[in-house]
Amino acid sequence: MSQLPEETPLSEKRLGNAIDLHIHTTASDGSLSPAECVDEAARLGLAAMAVTDHDTMAGNAEAVERGAARGVEVIPGVEISATLDRWSVHILGYWPQGTDALREMLAALRAGRGDRNPRILQRLAELGCPLLEEEVQAEAGSEVIGRPHIAAAMVRRGHVDSVQEAFNRYLGSGGEAYVPRKRPEAREAVGVLRDAGAVPVLAHPGASDLASAEEAAAIVAQLMPHGLSGIEVYYPSHSTGQTAAYQRIARDQGLVETGGTDFHGASKPDIRMGSGFGNLRVPRELLARLAEERERIRSREQALGH
Ligand code: AMP
Ligand code: FE
Ligand code: FE
Ligand code: ZN
Repeated sequence: MSQLPEETPLSEKRLGNAIDLHIHTTASDGSLSPAECVDEAARLGLAAMAVTDHDTMAGNAEAVERGAARGVEVIPGVEISATLDRWSVHILGYWPQGTDALREMLAALRAGRGDRNPRILQRLAELGCPLLEEEVQAEAGSEVIGRPHIAAAMVRRGHVDSVQEAFNRYLGSGGEAYVPRKRPEAREAVGVLRDAGAVPVLAHPGASDLASAEEAAAIVAQLMPHGLSGIEVYYPSHSTGQTAAYQRIARDQGLVETGGTDFHGASKPDIRMGSGFGNLRVPRELLARLAEERERIRSREQALGH
């Protein structure tokens, strides 16, 4: 059981058998540096954590190194925003190696931000919320500049009271200043990750725009032939019913179950590392299966001469 009853108080000792396989750092849109994330994991007593920044692997090395020093197992990773038919889906990749194809895909994703962000700022200016590019840049810890940084700059300027208000009113899909960015096809993202020796996992199906478990199953069926290996079953906003449904999909399809909080630090203040809204627990046993899957992928890649 990963979901404890609502009233269970957060006890840090309880996290000793837990892991968190979905964490963002300042290399993308988190507010803690990779080393600070590892320090937080160590403070909480987490057994393992994965760095899964959007569109970059730049935070991985620092986190792995700090993990070795602090006794926290750190799994390097990445998260790719992709599309599949009419859906928006996120693909996590664990233990990616830096192939040219993966580096190019991530570079294209970052370039897509460069195209989109000025258009958001232009739209915001038209809506009476002017911001300088430098103000947004100042909120970011790296070259990956995203909507959370724009939202933070809006709060700082007093255009809105909170990051959430910025998303609800302006930046979220359907918001007045929403501008989509270029994203790869999910089948291609899965394939590129797989060719890079990574374990590709469908991220937070319940937090994507998939309306139902049936839709999630349909997505999984489309991505498995391209190398999808896992599904993020445990996630803060997944209801008990959703968690059970995704577990069933994993078992029926032979997918690895993963889980994580999508910790972003101050940019998602409600989400705590390791426990989400407070009662999420991702059992550490899941990591052994994920690592087995990695070995399977590696030996097959070697057999194919990749
Ligand atoms: P971007 O990658 O720049 O398009 O921004 C996407 C990021 O914004 C996500 O990874 C979340 O961190 C954050 N985000 C997206 N939607 C929301 C929302 N409705 N409320 C708060 N944060 C959000
Ligand atoms: Fe994010
Ligand atoms: Fe995501
Ligand atoms: Zn994420």
